[in-house]
Amino acid sequence: AIPLVVAVSTSKSAQNGLLIRNRTAFENARRITTVVFDKTGTLTKGNFEVSEVSTFADGYDEDRVVSMAAGLEGHSEHPIGKGIVHEAERRKLKIPEVEDFEAIKGKGVRGSLEGKNVMLLSPGALSEMDIEVPGGTDKGAETRVFLLVDKVLTGSIALADTIRPESYKAVQQLQSRGIKCWILTGDNEQTAAAVADELGVDGYFAQVLPDQKQEKIRELQEEGEYVAMTGDGVNDSPALAQAQIGIAVGSGTDVAAATADIILVNSNPLDVSALILFGRATHRKMV
Ligand code: ADP
Ligand code: MG
Repeated sequence: AIPLVVAVSTSKSAQNGLLIRNRTAFENARRITTVVFDKTGTLTKGNFEVSEVSTFADGYDEDRVVSMAAGLEGHSEHPIGKGIVHEAERRKLKIPEVEDFEAIKGKGVRGSLEGKNVMLLSPGALSEMDIEVPGGTDKGAETRVFLLVDKVLTGSIALADTIRPESYKAVQQLQSRGIKCWILTGDNEQTAAAVADELGVDGYFAQVLPDQKQEKIRELQEEGEYVAMTGDGVNDSPALAQAQIGIAVGSGTDVAAATADIILVNSNPLDVSALILFGRATHRKMV
């Protein structure tokens, strides 16, 4: 039978934007020592807007770079993809037809366009191909992706995401209760560092490929941490499962929600600290 106190608390938490799928996890919320946040879509809004387009090859102007990129991204579900398609629409560009689309996990996307191999890649993936990243390291909290046509660098697109205003307070509230906050992201080092610095978290893991996210959670656990992981993407599911408590953000994918113990209905990071308070209060009523 469900202990009455828990039943009351869980319905109370539903009113506060927490949907509890696993009661045991909820009861264990008071044990949490570290909360790991996925960056994009959890601490940030996940609404990328194009802030700058650069061109690096003859015959490629900004519009051509954006339209080719949008041809690829029309097939992608990633928030970066949505931002690029939106920019092409804003510029009223004709978006070309792309065939053989493929998502390269945690690195970018590729496809064929007019017989050419077109790729849109992260700075990390570019370095792996031994291509120097132009413009280097001074891009702050922006994310940049690079357009390669038959492996020739033709342009880059910078996109800016915004930190959710609630994220600042969520980190503060958790830290004031002695809980460490970490960021885990597939995004590049500079962007992760800028967001980590802005929010004042205890640490971050950047440029983590989807299948390594789980490993990072395990590392923290091996250091003795009791970990809650908050994420929104398909990519985050194994990490959500690995954490002692997996928390999915409501606006994220169904896959993440299916693995999670708890769902943040309003996608509000402040509900994570509310969860811990509820967990502690509920425990006090039970013992
Ligand atoms: P996270 O979910 O932690 O933000 P992802 O694993 O989804 O990270 O993506 C990591 C990086 O891979 C992105 O920051 C970007 O550079 C690149 N990337 C992923 N998907 C796309 C896409 N559709 N278009 C362009 N770049 C992408
Ligand atoms: Mg994500």
